[in-house]
Amino acid sequence: MTDDQFFIKNELRITCADAVELVTEYLEETLSPADLDDFQTHLSLCEGCQVFLDQVNATITLMSRSRQVDVPLLPGNMDALLAVLDERAAQKPDEASSS
Ligand SMILES: [Zn+2]
Repeated sequence: MTDDQFFIKNELRITCADAVELVTEYLEETLSPADLDDFQTHLSLCEGCQVFLDQVNATITLMSRSRQVDVPLLPGNMDALLAVLDERAAQKPDEASSS
């Protein structure tokens, strides 16, 4: 812990693309302490990646319940995960505005 810590908190540290790549490892709790720190710092400052993580979490929960979609949770399968998210979005149009 140094005074640098305070300054670094104002930085995203990693790009959103990097954060997306780290999401699966984050969920599997296989990130190194340094990567975990970068990821959590980025997430705390980046609303877009927070939403993305929520969506991935929801998708994984859905998949593990239904078992109808068999997509192993690996960084290389992120496209498949995103495809599932797209399908869900298409099936539930504008759910957010119904409150
Ligand atoms: Zn981000």
